[in-house]
Amino acid sequence: MPKMGYNNYHMDIHTNIPLKNYTTMKLGGPARFMTEVRTSEEVAEVYRNAKTQKLPIFVIGGGSNVIAKDEGFSGIIVRMRIPGFEIVADDINSTTIKVGAGEEWDSVVKRAVDMRLSGIEAMSAIPGTAGATPIQNVGAYGQEIADTLQSVEAYDSREDRLVTLTNDDCRFAYRHSIFRDESIGRYVITSITLKLSKNLPTPPFYDALQKYLDENNIQIFTQEIIRNAVIAIRSTKLPDPQISPNTGSFFKNTIVENWQLDALRAINPDIPLFEMGDGRYKVPAGWLIEQTGLKGQLLHGMRVYDKNALVLINESATSYNDLLAARDEIIGQVRDKFRIQIEQEPLTI
Ligand code: NAP
Repeated sequence: MPKMGYNNYHMDIHTNIPLKNYTTMKLGGPARFMTEVRTSEEVAEVYRNAKTQKLPIFVIGGGSNVIAKDEGFSGIIVRMRIPGFEIVADDINSTTIKVGAGEEWDSVVKRAVDMRLSGIEAMSAIPGTAGATPIQNVGAYGQEIADTLQSVEAYDSREDRLVTLTNDDCRFAYRHSIFRDESIGRYVITSITLKLSKNLPTPPFYDALQKYLDENNIQIFTQEIIRNAVIAIRSTKLPDPQISPNTGSFFKNTIVENWQLDALRAINPDIPLFEMGDGRYKVPAGWLIEQTGLKGQLLHGMRVYDKNALVLINESATSYNDLLAARDEIIGQVRDKFRIQIEQEPLTI
């Protein structure tokens, strides 16, 4: 196995690996080095070596929420593969599970649902790994990881040690945490611990979910029924990345302040605004894009998905620059129409 430029290291290191093969958008040039980690000790080892060699480092999970540039990455890409699914506590009301960061998130949801545990069933069919869920406080259909997460174990690359961070330490907010903010790049999450309930899911459910349940005349709510409903809803709104390369929602849903409302309603009185309880409002970014007329259009090889304008499909783009041009055109048109700056959701390597 090549060890060039990466000495005293017993793990497999691969060189010159095309990132387009490891990202679901199927774009991006070569990574200089790539390795897989299966234990937290291996994470620490890679970081120590990278530091000695002065190499930048970037951790990926399933590659479903990252974008790679044409020039690739001149450091080491670490593929998170730490396994594990373990019951660490159990009482009459709840079961607490500890999950390796490299586990595929949806298989974790499925296992929890099969164990008749509640708390993450509405977060079904989300691509990516378990360890990625705290980073942007992943959530969907009325649940978010912050609701059940007790703690995470992580490698603290600044202090070179393994740490446990509590839910409070993560400072979760709407699709946000310290891992995307002041501590970006500092921690590598190696496991997550979730406290799940033994109670059945109970209404009120998220509007879109309730609508589906009503339309299908579903009146008994189990974890499995909710999971299946969410999978059915999502399958109509999200293209399969195996067939149509994409990263799910390419733009974040927008947050606007109280003082912006009058101006926005003057532009379009039908604008959907969801109160967040802190004087701010969520605006569906997909709706904003739809209003520009770009839904279904092909821009620089990227298709604005006709069933959900939040999704960009790489239909015939050959480079990251094509994606960038499409992205900026969409952002520009939304800005021209609404004076709102929508933002890219996936991280760029
Ligand atoms: P959607 O259901 O059309 O929602 C678009 C936006 O409107 C979201 O900000 C959503 O808030 C808000 N919204 C819709 N109905 C609402 C209600 N009854 N009350 C309050 N807010 C409401 O969206 P979508 O974009 O297709 O996403 C479906 C679900 O997946 C959403 O829950 C979304 O947050 C989630 N999602 C999460 C991520 C992520 O974690 N990175 C990425 C993509 C989608 P909420 O966001 O609070 O639901």
